[in-house]
Amino acid sequence: MSHACKLAAGNWKMNGLSADLEQARALAAAFPDPKCGILLCPPATLISAMAEAVSGSAVMVGGQDCHAQVAGAHTGDISAHMLADAGARQVILGHSERRADHAETSAQVAAKAAAAHAAGLVAIICVGETEAERDAGQTLEIVLSQLAHSLPDGANSANTVIAYEPVWAIGTGRTPTLDQIAEVHDALRAKLPDAAMSLLYGGSVKPGNAAEIFAIANVDGALVGGASLKAEDFGAIIAAL
Ligand code: PGA
Repeated sequence: MSHACKLAAGNWKMNGLSADLEQARALAAAFPDPKCGILLCPPATLISAMAEAVSGSAVMVGGQDCHAQVAGAHTGDISAHMLADAGARQVILGHSERRADHAETSAQVAAKAAAAHAAGLVAIICVGETEAERDAGQTLEIVLSQLAHSLPDGANSANTVIAYEPVWAIGTGRTPTLDQIAEVHDALRAKLPDAAMSLLYGGSVKPGNAAEIFAIANVDGALVGGASLKAEDFGAIIAAL
């Protein structure tokens, strides 16, 4: 791992009420001086309260999506500047649930990432194949195409992180083999505009499999869904980094 400090990123998805800020506080208390970056991406409703709850700690707060424009007539949307104003430092973009539920294209993801950069946020851009695409032998073609079209001009290791998340591994308890993860990460690394950009793996990362996944060359951390909701589980994953 020739790259910057590793990153453990938690994606709370559409989970979390005020009472769950306790998990963020517990995480901050458990890792006063972590050897990796720790990021929690709660729903937008909790961003400012979470940023307040963990302020002064090593835990960073991020969003799960943003609009490509700074402001305007877009009911229900949130801009990157608003996320930054609320205390976010990063934003997940192009998650497969956004690509599937909201028909987001890679071109839209690139526009959102450019907006994130303009607002001073790090963009965590997600790519990943469906099970049908893997079965058809199209994995590398799909993820490399998503990468090429989702990266905005000016993306570099300081403002962008890539997350490889096989769609069929998300929330299913199934993970690719270590060799399969290595194959995709090696292929992505070779096509990054900045070789020092961090590459996260995501999809059913748990305390029990984190260490072996983090040991793979070219894996610089994880994007964690279900196992990031409880400080105890996420803490065990962070400890494995
Ligand atoms: P999971 O989700 O860890 O619950 O599989 C990962 C993600 O969607 O980022």
